[in-house]
Amino acid sequence: MNKDNRTGATAFTDARVIVGDGTTVLDDAVITVQNGCITGLSQAPAGDLTGATVVSLRGKTVMPTLVNPHGHIGYMRGAACDPGCYSRENILDHLRRFVYYGISTFQCLGTDRNGIEIAIRDEQRSGTLDDPDLATFFTAGSGLVAAPGPGQASGAPFFAVDAVHQVTDPADGRAFVRELAGRKVDAVKFWIDDRGGAAAKLSPEACREIVDEAHQHGIQAAAHIYTVEDAKVALDAGADILAHMPRSPGPDQELIERLVERDTAVFTSMSVQGPTRTEWLDDPAVRETLPATAIEELRGRMQARGGEPLFDTGETYRRLQENFATLHQAGVRLVYSADTGLLAQLPGLAEHRELEALVEAGLSPLEAIEFATRRSSHLLGLTDRGTIEVGKRADLLVLDADPRADITNTRRIADVVLEGRVVDRERLRRQWRTDGE
Ligand SMILES: [Zn+2]
Repeated sequence: MNKDNRTGATAFTDARVIVGDGTTVLDDAVITVQNGCITGLSQAPAGDLTGATVVSLRGKTVMPTLVNPHGHIGYMRGAACDPGCYSRENILDHLRRFVYYGISTFQCLGTDRNGIEIAIRDEQRSGTLDDPDLATFFTAGSGLVAAPGPGQASGAPFFAVDAVHQVTDPADGRAFVRELAGRKVDAVKFWIDDRGGAAAKLSPEACREIVDEAHQHGIQAAAHIYTVEDAKVALDAGADILAHMPRSPGPDQELIERLVERDTAVFTSMSVQGPTRTEWLDDPAVRETLPATAIEELRGRMQARGGEPLFDTGETYRRLQENFATLHQAGVRLVYSADTGLLAQLPGLAEHRELEALVEAGLSPLEAIEFATRRSSHLLGLTDRGTIEVGKRADLLVLDADPRADITNTRRIADVVLEGRVVDRERLRRQWRTDGE
């Protein structure tokens, strides 16, 4: 598989295809692709393939590429997560890492510095940034937190304290969102969190102004919350997305009913809070893009936590898994979110670890894949991707092993196909090897 088939027809034959709808798997299927889109999908025999380039995928499993609607791009470099690493080059590097690991689409939620992300997104959308090996990029620009009072900390994420806008009063919140809308942000992100009592918290009035202004411009508003109380403030304000599930205490009946009734999206964001197991660092897929020194640094940092999560506690995580099951059974719209780009959430790998966390929380592998493909595409309003179906973009994650047997098989990547074009992963790997020396 090494041909560029953007214009001629290609038939990928003999493949096992996971469609991405949560249930359908086709054995011995044929996917025909032309002009970057899927033009046919059938079980063999495929009929007349005359004129098409035939590529056999015997023994492989094909699934849609992943779509991650929540992460923070540009801050990680090796094992570090630091504002000093943030640059246009590092953002582009992360967009390449996503593609390398089969993530076609990524949205950054609220940690843009100096409009660099919006500029990259605009260049990509207008075609002036002509690099096919970058994930499709969405960004919320800079998010909003409460301006800290005397003796208070910022409620912003630790690596992005000065990248976000500090809201002084409700009118200021509205004015900043109007400015963001002028730059056509893909979402508006705001943090409602006093960080355990240390930080200033956005008032309910400010939240209402922020969300209302976003809605005036047809933009979805995503609220960072960790508690039931803050989740209700977000819902009162009209937020469309909760960027996390409430942790401890878990969701009460009132919250669940409101989430279901409004069809509010709740991001899973589980792996970022998971126990610090280190075995995944030994996966060859990690070594392909990360220098050994960075891997050992991450390992040491996690071992020092003695199995406790880098963020919060194992007890909280168990509650989070229970809350996940409760919300899912109640019919709440849970949507995949890897919260990539901080702690040990390595760009491109965090996305696969989130799938693993979803399966550990009780989803079947096919359900977890649906969360990370069809559902997350739908959240971003993308109708051209998310499943392997006729008319969709030919974005394929080709695997050496079946993720139904073990969800970590999504990391056993044979090839990534974007719009029908096979990504030259070897070239990308060589680039990172050179960088690491
Ligand atoms: Zn986040």
